[in-house]
Amino acid sequence: MKIVLYTDLDGTLLDLSNYSYEAALPALTTLKRRKIPIVFCTAKTLAENEYYREELGIRDPFIVENGGAIFIPQGYFSFDFDYTKEMKHYCVIEFGARYEELRAALNAIRAETGFKIKGFGDMTPEEVAKDANLSIEKARLAKDKIYNESFIFDEPAEKEKILFEKIHEKGFSLTHGGRYYNIHGRNADKGKAVKVLTELFRREYGAEAVKTIGIGDSRNDIPMLEAVDQPAVVRRKDGTWLELPLKNLYKARGEGPEGWVEVVNKFILTNLKFKK
Ligand SMILES: [Mg+2]
Repeated sequence: MKIVLYTDLDGTLLDLSNYSYEAALPALTTLKRRKIPIVFCTAKTLAENEYYREELGIRDPFIVENGGAIFIPQGYFSFDFDYTKEMKHYCVIEFGARYEELRAALNAIRAETGFKIKGFGDMTPEEVAKDANLSIEKARLAKDKIYNESFIFDEPAEKEKILFEKIHEKGFSLTHGGRYYNIHGRNADKGKAVKVLTELFRREYGAEAVKTIGIGDSRNDIPMLEAVDQPAVVRRKDGTWLELPLKNLYKARGEGPEGWVEVVNKFILTNLKFKK
């Protein structure tokens, strides 16, 4: 059996308020030793993914900006496959829209509705740093977007429906992660990217051999959780779990990275059988 682990970062592998992964380090080391692919599947940018890959010593493919693109290190798979372009030392499979188009759509919606919308592109690195509780260096990485735009929607909850409609009208999609709203291409979500990448893992290791696990915490993770064999959610800061009607959904008691460790122990490190 070849287990592939898809994991969200913010609020899941990383603590939502201080971005710490301390609690997960021993389990990460064991996964790497056992050669279990750890695939980041996150709203974060290419630059942020590279930062955490470097920090954690992870060399597996990763999915950026809520499914905007898959980055696969060259030579990772033993066969040739279709991809959109080469960038640095990656083969990139793109699904997302262009950043400039997304910015234009948000500007148009702001003009049409008067909604208080503030995108990362409207903010200085200092402002992003303050709002997201990041260092200025990390805020620069977070602003370096290619396929989606994150924004603050400073309006009452009932206005969210209008925002959804407006974004759909413009031909794009909306997701809501832990802290920010995201506008992105209609064809791009975490689930689509997970399916495409899982196919590549199946070609490499055999269709029957590959079992996928997904760990997340919020709404932008739903397509990823629906696309894996074993979905799991970690507890959020407010004590709740993401609700979704998946029969075999596992709810970890632990919050953020502690819940992440619980899922990894239960489904990977203790060799429990998959129920699906
Ligand atoms: Mg999250």
